[in-house]
Amino acid sequence: MNKTTELTCIRCPIGCLVSVTADAQGNVMDIRGNGCPNGSRYAASELVNPVRIVTSTVRVEGGELPVAPVKTKTDIPKGRVFDCMEAINRASVKAPVRIGDVVIADVLGLGVDVVATRDVGEAAAEPKQDVEEAAEQIRGEREV
Ligand code: SF4
Repeated sequence: MNKTTELTCIRCPIGCLVSVTADAQGNVMDIRGNGCPNGSRYAASELVNPVRIVTSTVRVEGGELPVAPVKTKTDIPKGRVFDCMEAINRASVKAPVRIGDVVIADVLGLGVDVVATRDVGEAAAEPKQDVEEAAEQIRGEREV
């Protein structure tokens, strides 16, 4: 017996309501309501093997910002999204970070890297002297 599922396509902001009909074995028999071929591909995939791109942030050690935005380079199975988020939460990188740097290689063994999506430079170096020391040094140099 065929079963029809209604989905909202998330591939673009239009958000078409797409109906996917599959037979008892899960074979897609019919797709309607999609405004473009991407919606058809999305709906078929969503029924058989739903996937998502994960976006999050990772801690940066010694960075001008405490975190850097990251994302999975490609889709991962929807059922592994929370595991992926936990892996990213456990990770940290050292500044500087550059767009495209691999933050986690082959996350969860899924064959997908987590990559940085913006640059984060190193934090400004700590002043070597405090203000009083610097003032003392300047006064001493003036007296010579
Ligand atoms: S079916 Fe096409 S037009 Fe409609 S929401 Fe999906 S991507 Fe956008």
